[in-house]
Amino acid sequence: MKIPVAKPYLDAQDAQNAYDTILTGWVTQGPKVQEFEEKFAQYTGAKYAVAVSNCTTALHLAMIVAGVGEGDEVICPSMSYIATANCIRYVGAKVVLAEVNPETYNIDLQDVIKRITPKTKAILIVHQIGLPADIDAFASLCKEKGITLIEDAACAAGSAYKGGKIGSHSDLVCFSFHPRKVITTGDGGMITTSRQEYADRLKLLRQHGMAINDRVRHESTTVVLTDHLELGYNYRMTDIQAAVGIKQLEKLDWIIAERRKIALQYHQAFADITTIRLPIEQEGYFSNYQSYSVYLKPEFPINRDELMQKMLDEGISTRSGVMTTHRETAYRAYCAGIILPVSEDACDRSIILPLYVPMTQEEINFVIETFKKICLPKNDIL
Ligand SMILES: *Cc1c(COP(=O)(O)O)cnc(C)c1O
Repeated sequence: MKIPVAKPYLDAQDAQNAYDTILTGWVTQGPKVQEFEEKFAQYTGAKYAVAVSNCTTALHLAMIVAGVGEGDEVICPSMSYIATANCIRYVGAKVVLAEVNPETYNIDLQDVIKRITPKTKAILIVHQIGLPADIDAFASLCKEKGITLIEDAACAAGSAYKGGKIGSHSDLVCFSFHPRKVITTGDGGMITTSRQEYADRLKLLRQHGMAINDRVRHESTTVVLTDHLELGYNYRMTDIQAAVGIKQLEKLDWIIAERRKIALQYHQAFADITTIRLPIEQEGYFSNYQSYSVYLKPEFPINRDELMQKMLDEGISTRSGVMTTHRETAYRAYCAGIILPVSEDACDRSIILPLYVPMTQEEINFVIETFKKICLPKNDIL
C-alpha cells in the first residue's frame, strides 16, 4: 500500500464547472470570481470577500491595506509556513518572531506582549494547521494598543472560533486554496473583511490599481476609459479557478466532517501511547484538521526522522511538523542570535500523519497499525 500524506478532493464536476466558464469567454475578473467571493463571504459570515491569486499575495495586500511599511514592526509566529513572515518583508517592515504555545502550536499571547514596541504596527496571527488561535485575546490586545490584527487563515477555511467561522471575526483574514489545504482552486487565495473601504482597495490593488475593472467595461454600452490610481499588482484569481472554488466550497463542510472522523480515529487509537502528545482542541475551538500533527516526547523510543523513514519504508508518507522561519537559510542572517526554544522543539519533535478525503478504512487502519508498531516498545501490548 502507498499512502500519501495529503491529497486534494477534486472531482469531475469541479473541472466541468471550470470548463463551462471558459465557454462563456470569461477568464479573469468575470462572474465566477464575483460569485465565489459572494459565496465565500456568506459561508464565513464576513461582509466581503476578495479573491486573489494565492494566500501569500493575500497577506501582502493585507499588509498594504493595514498601512504597514518601512520603519514598522509586525509580530508573527516563527513556527509557520515561511510566507507568513515573508509578506511582512515585502512591504519593508521588520519581522518580529514570537513563540507558540507548546500544546496548540498557536502564537503565544504573553510572548507577543513582551515583543510589542512603539513601532509595532500589526500582529499577524496564524491558525496553526487549522486550529484557531485565540482571536479574542489578540483582538483586545490590538485594540488596547492601537495595533492592526491580521489573521493568516491559510489552513483554516471552515474552522471556527467561539461559534463563528474563521473569516468573520476581524478585518483582514487571509485564506489559501493551495492543493495542500482543505479545499483548493489549484492555487488561490481569499481575503475576508467587514470593511467596505478595505474590500474596495484590495480589489484595486489586485488588478494593477485599475479604477474600472474589465467586467464593468465589458458590460457597459458606452465607451469606458480607465485610469490606474496607484501602484498595483497582478494578484487576480481567474474565473477558471473561481469556478472550481465554488464547487469546492459546496463540499467544504462535508470534507471537514470526514477529516474530523479520521482525526477521531487517530485520537482513539493513540490515546494510550504515553510517549506522544496528540493535537488538542479546546472548548470553543473547532479545527478543520488541515493536518494531524503528533508530538514525540523525549522518551519516544526513536528519533523523529527515523520514524518518518520507517513509516516511508512501509509505504506511508509523513511530513515533519510545521517549520520554524528563523532557522531557514533565508532568515538566518536576518534572525541572527534569535532562539525560540518552544517553537524549535515543537518543530523538531513533531510529525504529520496522512489525512485526506477519501481515505479508506484500510488505509486508516494501516497508518494506525504501522505507527503503533513503531511507537511501542516490543513487549508493550496495547
Ligand atoms: C500555505 C500557507 C501559506 C501560503 O499560501 P499560498 O496560497 O500557497 O500562498 C501562508 N501561510 C500559511 C500558514 C500556510 O500554511
